[in-house]
Amino acid sequence: MNDKKSATIAIRAGIATDKQYNAVVPPIYLSTNYQFPHLGELPTYDYARGGQPTRALLEDALAALEKGAGATVTNCGMSAINLVLTLLSPEDLLVASVDCYGGTYRLFESYAKKGAFKLCFIDQSDDKALEAVLQQKPKLIWIESPSNPLLRVVDIAEIAKKAHAVSALVGVDNTFLSPVFQQPLSLGADLVVHSLTKFINGHSDTLGGVLIAKDPALQEKFKWWGNCIGATGSAFDSYMILRGLKTLSVRMRQHEKNTLAVLCYLKDESLVRVIYHPSLVEHKGHFIAKKQQLGFGSMLSFEFKGEKAQLELFLSSLQMFTLAESLGGVESLVCHPASMTHRAMSDEAQAEAGLSAMLLRLSVGLEDQIDLIADLKKAFDKVREKRQ
Ligand code: PLP
Repeated sequence: MNDKKSATIAIRAGIATDKQYNAVVPPIYLSTNYQFPHLGELPTYDYARGGQPTRALLEDALAALEKGAGATVTNCGMSAINLVLTLLSPEDLLVASVDCYGGTYRLFESYAKKGAFKLCFIDQSDDKALEAVLQQKPKLIWIESPSNPLLRVVDIAEIAKKAHAVSALVGVDNTFLSPVFQQPLSLGADLVVHSLTKFINGHSDTLGGVLIAKDPALQEKFKWWGNCIGATGSAFDSYMILRGLKTLSVRMRQHEKNTLAVLCYLKDESLVRVIYHPSLVEHKGHFIAKKQQLGFGSMLSFEFKGEKAQLELFLSSLQMFTLAESLGGVESLVCHPASMTHRAMSDEAQAEAGLSAMLLRLSVGLEDQIDLIADLKKAFDKVREKRQ
């Protein structure tokens, strides 16, 4: 299946594998334990924390989509990132980006404070900063491209080349694009992580994460640690995510179409100061995105031009964009990163990441684009009316 296109891999995952009744869609196995054929002979699965058939189908599909050696499905995106950290010892340096997801920032910072590893946050698009930190021979470079919430894009192939020259590993959080729009291992990265909670499940009803390695030995290590620390995903969640995965390819394309339409409207909206989306030619990472991504994606953010009270009025006037965290579901969401997804970052860290109090992030869903644009326009008009 590995040589097939993404849509085919995602849809065919597990189809017609049921040996008992020839069910087309694979059944869910909820059993936590499995019988040993004889004393001393290990079955394929013995205990579900270490491995189980429904999760294995999802792991195989995700590994094939990302062209990895294998995958470890975890109970959420953060536990997949946590699993990566099992690579690090106290003397190792981890280099992350100043504007990574707030939960990732909190995880890295909290462990570093306890002395689990050394940590440095840099602007990874700043070549000088990157060169300087590479001289310290880091163990791991952690990339989020496009980043959350400012959609910054970095050249994964270029960073991987430089990192490998000093024997550093490169991990990429690919949550914003999914394997349909970006495949970091093919660009030279060593590890990929997704929050499956987002686009891959796509229906905002299941938590999940995955860690995929290019090197089979590293993959085995993560599998071992996943079982050891109990980070692995449940059968039910795996079943749900396998179901969501089938429509990933069409969803990603429609999400993007809707986003491009929304962007077209926002560009002429006088209450919008700056828009962040890699499809825009003026976006700093536009040409890198064009080179390394298979689509621009559907997450966007923008600076609201106005006062806090006006921003509040705008948000409360929206009906098609629900004020909520998370992203990548079929429904449209709006988020205020400074007080929501990134509140774990201090004011100083937010300022360093370029995250302002007027920044809003949209996860553009699959409603009709006409309704989405009309809703945004109505909310902006309300702010204008109140001003007069
Ligand atoms: N990575 C990114 C880019 C995210 O946006 C998130 C959550 O919002 C995560 C990782 C963490 O995923 P989860 O919430 O499934 O633990």
